[in-house]
Amino acid sequence: MDERKPQNGYFHDIYHSVRSILVGMRITLKYCFSRPVTVQYPEQKLDFAPRYRGVHEFEAAKCIACDLCAKACPVDCIYIDYTGRGKNVKLSRFAIDYSKCLFCALCTEPCPTSCIHMGKVHDLSAYSREEMVVEFLELDKQGRHTPTPIWMERPDAPEWAKLERQRIADGVLATTEADIIPAAPTKRK
Ligand code: SF4
Ligand code: SF4
Repeated sequence: MDERKPQNGYFHDIYHSVRSILVGMRITLKYCFSRPVTVQYPEQKLDFAPRYRGVHEFEAAKCIACDLCAKACPVDCIYIDYTGRGKNVKLSRFAIDYSKCLFCALCTEPCPTSCIHMGKVHDLSAYSREEMVVEFLELDKQGRHTPTPIWMERPDAPEWAKLERQRIADGVLATTEADIIPAAPTKRK
């Protein structure tokens, strides 16, 4: 009977245990001394990519209630009500349920009047599921194209958030890739 084999296995296991601990500790120590990749939001914030897909911006005056956006939505979270037909059509509701929305932007592509865009607001929060349904037509009555996150209303909100809040209150659309690329055909409000 060869008695060396179990002994070899014993020291082999110790060697691998110690080695894996050292490898783990080396990785831990490496990240202890490297620069953090996170920022202290909202005091600090990262700039979004031009194609970033946040909460929608909706221009009610341009909407013709054709339903194409709602039909394109894979989770059926766009609710549109209207009265009349053709040129007499009158939008009576345009809402999106953000407890379901995937931010896939499929709704923006078929829109014949380009009145629904992906915006830059990403931290929309609410106290209930019902509040996650954004009534864009109601916002339009206040001159807004997108909702304002509730935390941005705080008086001690950082300066960038105050500017963002003002942009939304003024009904100015978020900057998009089309505004940045020089070949952009038209400058949006
Ligand atoms: S972004 Fe996608 S999931 Fe959200 S409303 Fe548009 S189509 Fe629907
Ligand atoms: S596709 Fe555009 S125009 Fe048609 S209902 Fe949707 S937002 Fe309105």
